[in-house]
Amino acid sequence: MNQWEVVIGIETHAQLSSVSKIFSGASTAFGAAPNTQACAVDLALPGVLPVLNRKAVECAIRFGLAIGAQVAPKSVFARKNYFYPDLPKGYQISQFELPVVQGGAITVAVGSGDKAYEKTVNLTRAHLEEDAGKSLHEDFHGKSGIDLNRAGTPLLEIVTEPDMRSSDEAVAYARALHALVRWIGICDGNMQEGSFRCDANVSVRRPGAPYGTRREIKNLNSFRFLKEAIDFEVQWQINEIEEGRAIQQATVLFDPDSGETRMMRSKEDAHDYRYFPDPDLLPLLIPADWIDRVRGELPELPNQKRQRFIAQFGLSAYDATTLTASQEIAAYFEAVVGIAGAANAKPCANWVMVDLAARLNKEGREIGESPVSAAQLGGLIQRIADNTISNNIAKKVFEALWNGEGASADEVIEKQGLRQITDSGAIAALVDEVIAANPGNVAEYRAGKEKAFNALVGQVMKAAKGKANPQQVNALLKEKLAG
Ligand code: ADP
Ligand code: MG
Repeated sequence: MNQWEVVIGIETHAQLSSVSKIFSGASTAFGAAPNTQACAVDLALPGVLPVLNRKAVECAIRFGLAIGAQVAPKSVFARKNYFYPDLPKGYQISQFELPVVQGGAITVAVGSGDKAYEKTVNLTRAHLEEDAGKSLHEDFHGKSGIDLNRAGTPLLEIVTEPDMRSSDEAVAYARALHALVRWIGICDGNMQEGSFRCDANVSVRRPGAPYGTRREIKNLNSFRFLKEAIDFEVQWQINEIEEGRAIQQATVLFDPDSGETRMMRSKEDAHDYRYFPDPDLLPLLIPADWIDRVRGELPELPNQKRQRFIAQFGLSAYDATTLTASQEIAAYFEAVVGIAGAANAKPCANWVMVDLAARLNKEGREIGESPVSAAQLGGLIQRIADNTISNNIAKKVFEALWNGEGASADEVIEKQGLRQITDSGAIAALVDEVIAANPGNVAEYRAGKEKAFNALVGQVMKAAKGKANPQQVNALLKEKLAG
């Protein structure tokens, strides 16, 4: 058997949205001039002491509760020692043996349509740590610049078990995690600015065999790169093994231009870092009442909302997943259903996921910037449901609302005279006219050509300026042509 199983575990660094750094009062704002947001603690001047930021801890608690993990009543900060120019202390403050969040799981939807399935990814841990500074290699002709603005920025490192079995599962997990940290307000998720970056640990094995040796692809900052990097790496490892070479544990980088992964360094082990508890910091104690308060403040979570959408509105798992991709989309959808009624939940879902999404996409807008409000869209869907307008005309009304040509669907329908013609006498008159004016089509239809019928429907709709009720037009035409 020439079959290989892929094994993936992901480590994610999520930058926590606190105003100041994890152990100092300096600002975490992105984009300031180099070294203007690095205070004595971030610069590691002698004699300074770290003071833990309460907000960062609160973010970790929120996350732990959101994934059903154990929030450790006592956790410990440790020094992870290594030398790098952007790390002036010579060590990073992180957590090692006792992380603040332990266990937990995230269930994600993978694929769509018939091939869709659910996958639960178990988490090992999530721990608090500080980010390092940045080395700037580009602007300084043969020298490097060091910007310590990022030094001390609070991170939550979120580590999964090696549970994923394909790049699609890895991307589904990363997307769900990205949505979750934004949903609970602990990370802005800005991947360009590096607020959310993933390391993918990849190995291959024969099904049933022990885990193979992994290589870790560092710092993937888009979902597309995550997928491309894993796919390349898997193929590379399979080739190596099939050609008789063993995989060496290593840290690799993905080059988006070539689509290849390249070895950066052979992988260091925990003992290389000489971890030990940081004597400058007390153990982190989180009393139960703090956890209870944070639990009380959590919003309905994406998975809960998703289950509720399925149960309450009869939506498919796929629709429910799409509509809970962010809190903004979910809130918009619920507001639309609130107006149009739960009986119209499916058309509401379609309008939000298809028509509105396409229109927003075309102009590169977020749902929060939609010129058509949820109330306006809900009102529009009501008018489709009660047969005031057809689906086709509704698209016109939607466009008019988008362009600010009316305050509501009703106003646009009245102003532009778009009300559907349902008076069967009026439609019958149009049908008669069209039959009389198109003897060729009529003859063809009677000779068995279905296409000729569609041409006649088109003529009637044209005569009615698109406003005749399509079902009635069809029925009356059939009736009269048969007669
Ligand atoms: P380290 O201490 O070197 O960072 P960990 O044991 O913490 O290593 O694992 C880091 C990540 O690698 C985790 O997400 C874990 O699930 C994943 N991982 C561990 N072993 C494998 C393997 N054989 N194949 C793929 N991923 C793995
Ligand atoms: Mg690790």
